[in-house]
Amino acid sequence: MGVAYNLTCKRCSYNQNVFLGIGFRYMYLTDILEWYEEPIGKERLREFSKDEITKHVCYHGLYLCNECKFLLNAVYLHLESHSDIYTNRYNCPRCSGVMPAKPIDDEIEAVALACPDCGHANLVCRSYMDWD
Ligand SMILES: [Zn+2]
Ligand SMILES: [Zn+2]
Repeated sequence: MGVAYNLTCKRCSYNQNVFLGIGFRYMYLTDILEWYEEPIGKERLREFSKDEITKHVCYHGLYLCNECKFLLNAVYLHLESHSDIYTNRYNCPRCSGVMPAKPIDDEIEAVALACPDCGHANLVCRSYMDWD
């Protein structure tokens, strides 16, 4: 099950809900194919589903932009077969920098996240529900 967090800044009005972890339709490739939207990743999912897949990892993570500290809540997708390997990548919606290959996947309470808007050092992070 995944956990939903609320991130707020003590200094400015930044307020963001973030979903981390996996839902119940994240376990099988056939399920992921049904809801995955981004066209390149979707095409790759189709290719991999024809092949013998050896590993797949899929969850909601929080990508932290190294350049401007923007926080992007998005799906991490990693696929492996005997002949191929694919990891989805994102560009920062704010500065177009390349996001790290891997997002933060849980326990964001333990990470000191800076406010993406004003740079204040510690966002207040509070889990408020489980989601499936
Ligand atoms: Zn702020
Ligand atoms: Zn950025």
